Amino acid sequence: MDFRPTEEQALLRRSVREFAETEIRPHVREWDETQHFPLELVPKLGALGLMGIQVPEQYGGAAMSAVDYCICIEEIARVDPAVALSVAAHNGLCSSHILMFGSDEQKRKFLTPLARGEKIGAWGLTESTSGSDAAGMRTTAVKAGDCWTINGSKTFTTHGRVGDIMVTMAVTDRTAGPKGISAFIVEKGTPGVAPGKKEDKLGMRASDTSEVLFENCRVPSDQLLGELGQGFVNTMQVLDAGRIGIAALSVGLAQGAYEAALRYAQERKAFGRPISGFQAIQWKLADHATRIEAARLLTYRAAYLKDKHPKTRTTLESSMAKLYASEIAVRAAEDCVQIHGGYGFVKDYPAEKFFRDVKLTTIGEGTSEIQRLVIARELLR
Ligand SMILES: Cc1cc2nc3c(=O)[nH]c(=O)nc-3n(C[C@H](O)[C@H](O)[C@H](O)COP(=O)(O)OP(=O)(O)OC[C@H]3O[C@@H](n4cnc5c(N)ncnc54)[C@H](O)[C@@H]3O)c2cc1C
Repeated sequence: MDFRPTEEQALLRRSVREFAETEIRPHVREWDETQHFPLELVPKLGALGLMGIQVPEQYGGAAMSAVDYCICIEEIARVDPAVALSVAAHNGLCSSHILMFGSDEQKRKFLTPLARGEKIGAWGLTESTSGSDAAGMRTTAVKAGDCWTINGSKTFTTHGRVGDIMVTMAVTDRTAGPKGISAFIVEKGTPGVAPGKKEDKLGMRASDTSEVLFENCRVPSDQLLGELGQGFVNTMQVLDAGRIGIAALSVGLAQGAYEAALRYAQERKAFGRPISGFQAIQWKLADHATRIEAARLLTYRAAYLKDKHPKTRTTLESSMAKLYASEIAVRAAEDCVQIHGGYGFVKDYPAEKFFRDVKLTTIGEGTSEIQRLVIARELLR
């Protein structure tokens, strides 16, 4: 067991960090305030391989490992968690679903432009009445000739407005429960699919989130993704990997918040000395630095297992990493505000944005309650 990064991984971290510092950092506040999804950034992300991080080269991707994926997401989240969320949803949900379960033809046609950053991916599982209880979805797909007709709607879809290619889950056999759900690839511009309400969010505001509405949307039968009736089962496997991405996002966000707090504590003076001289502040910093390292190790362990044993599910390890990393990130972001005092409450410093963004990490891709449920189920198996 070697806990040190390889030379390639150290280089990868340096290049993604430099990219985030130069191409993202200067715009973070403006994109957040205006809820601007930075379409202009996508070709640059693509050029760096960040739109197809784990996609094989034959489909236009960068063919990196799951551990490399964590490094990329972490470094973006350290600067702007909203951009990291978009990169994670594009790579870890939409593209990953097509990569894991698509046919060679589907990968050529849909995955390749996604991996090159020519198109943006979206993934629709959640509906207005079914989030944690995702199998209770109402959207249906009915076969008619050589097409499937989709009716219903998806809620909180990352890239619901800006996405070009969407993987959506729909009920194909109401009597079969979770085994009656299938996945479909839907292209932007297909008659009958349209974005609905754009969400006005607490945080992650530069990441596009909206409803997606389906009204008699006909998709060719060769856009059924994976086997008929296996969409929900496949979704759980996609989420095993996706949750490692949200864990990495949480680690990166916590790291960004911790660094901001450390820097401020060394600059800010009270009672004639830097506040970093007070033990109360030192203990906070020590606790967060320790928790962040622990979360990073849990996250890399899940990613490492995925790399080493791609056929074995990492449900337990992924959920543990996601649960722990997101919850320590919430505490790190909260103390980042606390250490900034009143300046943590205003937009001149990054603290308040980390504090708003971080809450998504304990909700998206399964809430903390659902992670505990998944972990307990695995333990009691
Ligand atoms: C910014 C953002 C981006 C998102 N992106 C996507 C996306 O791209 N694609 C997508 O499909 N979804 C996406 N989501 C949806 C997200 O995955 C869901 O919001 C999440 O799974 C929770 O579902 P819900 O909001 O319906 O909450 P609910 O399921 O209604 O949960 C409400 C509360 O009840 C608790 N609860 C529910 N069931 C149980 C239980 N059995 N035991 C204990 N507690 C329980 C929950 O933990 C939570 O605290 C996104 C959400 C946000 C906010």
